[in-house]
Amino acid sequence: MNSHLFSQIPATDKLLTWAQERFPQEPILLLKKHINNFLDQLRTQIKENKIQAQELEPNALLQKLSKLLEKNTRPHLKRVINATGIVVHTNQGRSLLAREAVEAVEDICLHYSNLELDLKTGKRGSRYSHVEEILCTITGSESALVVNNNAAAVLITLETLAQNKEVIVSRGELVEIGGSFRIPDVMKKSGAILKEVGTTNRTHLRDYEQAISENTGALLKVHTSNYRIIGFHKEVSLKELVALGKKYHLPVIKDLGSGNLISFSQYGLTHFDEPTVKEILKTGVDVVSFSGDKLLGGPQAGIIVGKKEFVDKIKKNPLNRALRIDKMTLAALEATLKLYLDEEKALQNIPTLKLIFTPLSTLNNRAATLSKKLKTLSNLVVKKERSSSKVGGGSLPEREIPTYVVKLKPKNFSIEELRKKLLETDPPLIGRVEEDWFCLDVRTIFPAEINLIYHIFKHLEE
Ligand SMILES: *Cc1c(COP(=O)(O)O)cnc(C)c1O
Repeated sequence: MNSHLFSQIPATDKLLTWAQERFPQEPILLLKKHINNFLDQLRTQIKENKIQAQELEPNALLQKLSKLLEKNTRPHLKRVINATGIVVHTNQGRSLLAREAVEAVEDICLHYSNLELDLKTGKRGSRYSHVEEILCTITGSESALVVNNNAAAVLITLETLAQNKEVIVSRGELVEIGGSFRIPDVMKKSGAILKEVGTTNRTHLRDYEQAISENTGALLKVHTSNYRIIGFHKEVSLKELVALGKKYHLPVIKDLGSGNLISFSQYGLTHFDEPTVKEILKTGVDVVSFSGDKLLGGPQAGIIVGKKEFVDKIKKNPLNRALRIDKMTLAALEATLKLYLDEEKALQNIPTLKLIFTPLSTLNNRAATLSKKLKTLSNLVVKKERSSSKVGGGSLPEREIPTYVVKLKPKNFSIEELRKKLLETDPPLIGRVEEDWFCLDVRTIFPAEINLIYHIFKHLEE
């Protein structure tokens, strides 16, 4: 054992004084913890003969410690660069908020507010009143309610309208949205009893009608968000289902998933033919729920709209207290919804919409700028290519929009190594791997991030 090396280990206090000067914002307790871990590691390395004398020189040690502290003092929840091109990326925070929404959150969070205060009477008010009117204006709904997310919206809707009753759903719509949301599981938790009808690829109106009995509580239609059946396929339209519900006096519920407040096809994405929430409500459906942070482009929330008779029942459900949204969400949602009162403004200011509608020529220019910069680095093979982006968030599957990507191949290591290295940069850079290339889709890269990306790759070369 090189036990003489132990004497080269500096004193904790000395390192702590040094670290406090470099990281004045960091609590001493945390600095101390990291330094102790660092020193323990050195002792183990010496014991196991895994460290050389020169690595224990003061300068080398401080450099190592500095790197470690830089890494560990960054917040755990941090910004990343999304170069996947997927606009609504659940792992990366779904929708970015509009500036207006962020400012509203800041104002409400730095001050007291009328969250549950009725300013007409000075008495207790309802937190939901802040967004109900604007939601009704935009969607044409009679009543509206907002809960924690769309999963919560589906849960509370079923719990209110169909507990201990059968809810009829097509077998083609028993979907799983990401790991933790499966229609049959949510239904079980709500106390509703799943009554499956039809087959995976074909369900007829008569399948629903034959399943109706005195035990039926509701008819449910689920947007198959992230998958699509092609070929020999038949589903019952919402309109037909609404007519059936009327005939038997049963509420018809639609889990819309993403939910768009503007028509994407009207603004040029002709193959995005999803009806708006307003158009869906026009079918006469009783309750519709959708997410706040998918195509709407707001904060995480589950929005419930529809007939007053049913939505007001949901409002009175005590579960509401457990699923309620907080003031930050309300502030951000109200500001985002306000932008929709002028659709042009929504397209310009809501990042989700702005990214989806970025003109191809802009993306081409952005990719050209990025690739030109990266080409100056000697250890990378770089090329620019046309490709396509996904919208993501279980919205509009299969439907891709043309984009440009910058494709990279490192000369000195593998694509997999590059992918891993980029997870540790500051900020981390997340791209997509296609065949033998690491691709940066410029749709989700902001112009101000181009320099940042260049420096990340430059740093990797050093
Ligand atoms: C996304 C989605 C959900 C879940 O919504 P969250 O807001 O993520 O809770 C439920 N149903 C459908 C059809 C969806 O697409």
